[in-house]
Amino acid sequence: MRDMKRHGTNRNSGKTHCKLGHPLQAPNLKPAQAAKGGRSCLACAREYALARVQNRPFDPARADERLRAIAASF
Ligand SMILES: [Zn+2]
Repeated sequence: MRDMKRHGTNRNSGKTHCKLGHPLQAPNLKPAQAAKGGRSCLACAREYALARVQNRPFDPARADERLRAIAASF
């Protein structure tokens, strides 16, 4: 019963999705941020990193693909 309190969805002012609408919950959370109690979208972070390495702009469609891959591998 007391497990119900553990969701912590209002710890980051009710932020439940990133700006692209990806759910900010495991497994789509950057571990470093999650450990600090913050929430950061892993799919977007990976796409940002890849875009930088490949010297191209951030591609929301690719971030969506990342999210699907992350969810599938969980
Ligand atoms: Zn995202």
